[in-house]
Amino acid sequence: MKAQLLDHPGFPLRLADIPAPKPGPGEILIEVHACGVCRTDLHIADGELAAPHYPIIPGHEIVGRVVEGGSRFSVGDRVGVPWLGKTCGACRFCLSGRENLCDSPLFTGHGIHGGYAEFVVANEDYCFPIPEFYSDAEAAPLLCAGLIGYRALHSAGDAEKIGLYGFGAAAHIASQVASHEGRRIYAFTRAGDSAAQDFARSLGAVWAGSSGDAPPDELDAAIIFAPAGELVPEALSRISKGGTVVCGGIHMSDIPRFPYSILWGERSIRSVANLTRKDGEEFMRIAPLAGVKTEVTTFPLEFANLALDRLRSGRIRGAAVLVTAACS
Ligand SMILES: [Zn+2]
Ligand SMILES: [Zn+2]
Repeated sequence: MKAQLLDHPGFPLRLADIPAPKPGPGEILIEVHACGVCRTDLHIADGELAAPHYPIIPGHEIVGRVVEGGSRFSVGDRVGVPWLGKTCGACRFCLSGRENLCDSPLFTGHGIHGGYAEFVVANEDYCFPIPEFYSDAEAAPLLCAGLIGYRALHSAGDAEKIGLYGFGAAAHIASQVASHEGRRIYAFTRAGDSAAQDFARSLGAVWAGSSGDAPPDELDAAIIFAPAGELVPEALSRISKGGTVVCGGIHMSDIPRFPYSILWGERSIRSVANLTRKDGEEFMRIAPLAGVKTEVTTFPLEFANLALDRLRSGRIRGAAVLVTAACS
């Protein structure tokens, strides 16, 4: 099969022809149709997030059809594979409904091979059925951008006025869910990125501006999807008493020092990490009901490096998705 291998962080992916994997007990072999390109893939490729071993096949927003193995799905079923690839089931986090914080997890496209390939093997208990509402490519970004955005949104509690910093794949989905829930979205983009600001308004944002701008209203919460630590004090200075700043990314540059006065008033800063299977099941049910539509730019699997470059330089509207010849 064709696969994109990361041999060493900091180097481009290498397109290789390697044997397709074989499923073991509890695993399924999936023919990959589409795989989203997530900012986390960029952090892994660039070495900001080290993988346990190399080479590794990146990709954790996988949509494909079951070819063989397992007992939970039938051959031909369309399934999705998310970032959470396996948990121990025995640590105190797993035992208290917080498997996203598992002490010894395996992540897809990080510790186990991911979906930048024509086939992938996954633990069937961590896969989700994909709603018919979506095509293969449209469904791919739901599996991480969508899920993390959903988890981040709910980490902001019942906030009505929410600022989203960084209007990429996650924010473009989260803003639709938020609007559906009756919340008001304020979108913050890179300075002067009027295309992203127009895109945010087209998805229901009540206001869009640059990340240093003052929004017209005081915010109840803010979610930061961009990996820029300087946005933490910026967002903190825009939220009201009791509000939360949620950091949605797995990696962020250092947060600069800031005066205590902008944290005072029971404001809080928190991160969201990974997902639970419950998040996945809930979100896959809610996304079509909320009418969530994803905007995707597709690239053939062979062009994975180009897709990563475009994401790195902020030239993707919505989400980038790699597709194989099997994609319909
Ligand atoms: Zn665990
Ligand atoms: Zn991701």
